[in-house]
Amino acid sequence: MQKDIATPVRTKEIMEKYGFSFKKSLGQNFLIDPNVLRNITENAGLTKETGVIEIGPGIGALTEHLARTAKKVVAYEIDQRLLPILADTLSPYENVKVIHEDVLKADINQMIDEEFADVKDIMVVANLPYYVTTPIILKLLEKNLPIRGIVVMLQKEVGDRIAAKPGTKEYGSLSIAIQYYTTAETVMIVPKSVFIPQPNVDSAVIRMLLRESPAVSVKNERFFFNIAKMSFAQRRKTLMNNLTSGLPDGKKRKSEIADALDAAGIEPSRRGETLSMGEFGTLSDALFPIFG
Ligand code: SAM
Repeated sequence: MQKDIATPVRTKEIMEKYGFSFKKSLGQNFLIDPNVLRNITENAGLTKETGVIEIGPGIGALTEHLARTAKKVVAYEIDQRLLPILADTLSPYENVKVIHEDVLKADINQMIDEEFADVKDIMVVANLPYYVTTPIILKLLEKNLPIRGIVVMLQKEVGDRIAAKPGTKEYGSLSIAIQYYTTAETVMIVPKSVFIPQPNVDSAVIRMLLRESPAVSVKNERFFFNIAKMSFAQRRKTLMNNLTSGLPDGKKRKSEIADALDAAGIEPSRRGETLSMGEFGTLSDALFPIFG
């Protein structure tokens, strides 16, 4: 087996061979620690039956670990300069396909139909470009893809918000948006030193496994997410204050909001960060007939 791409020596060799320079604007921080990569693949529960979607293969550090463990890997890379490098570094692996596309513009459902028709277990595994972490994860979840889950490296601070529980300062509308679809947990904290160039912040590996059905059943999903967002708009304000500022004509319709809170059994003086996912569901269902 060839030496891992994800070592400082081999990464530097590859970069020099191709005269490659990092683009900060594309979130290019490459992993140079094979142990971290092994940890990511293990946490994704990959087998030779698994199809993997990778976002941002870079020079292939994670991709080769995925290719060794999974049935097939399809990787989206936005930076054209990396294509010849990937063709070289990944040449030992026949089960990898690189697509040159911005993942945010890609039709992933169609790609799955074409590339993973015979695959029952599909996982998204990536060391994400940090400038677009949240839009990428939300796109993956909102498109209803037939995936088992997502295991990704991201900024630790974003990971903390994704996996946060009610009553903590990290808990917010992002926690609700993601935990609605998945069980989310941090599986590893990763120091800056395992990347080149080193990012400014620490990182974490987060595992999000799709729930069989959403965490709460609500009358209207869009409205539910809007109510959650509104409730966290000004964290120091009470729920009542945030709702009167956020709902249409809220200030004039205070008594209707108070009635809905009462019907949902939620004290108007509470802060958004204390509400569980279930309580947001009950509240949004009580408000939906009035404001939806
Ligand atoms: N997987 C490699 C590793 O772990 O060393 C590289 C990870 S690096 C953090 C992020 C990668 O995502 C870069 O290769 C970058 O060019 C790519 N990228 C950035 N924005 C992207 C987008 N919108 N769609 C697809 N790839 C993107």
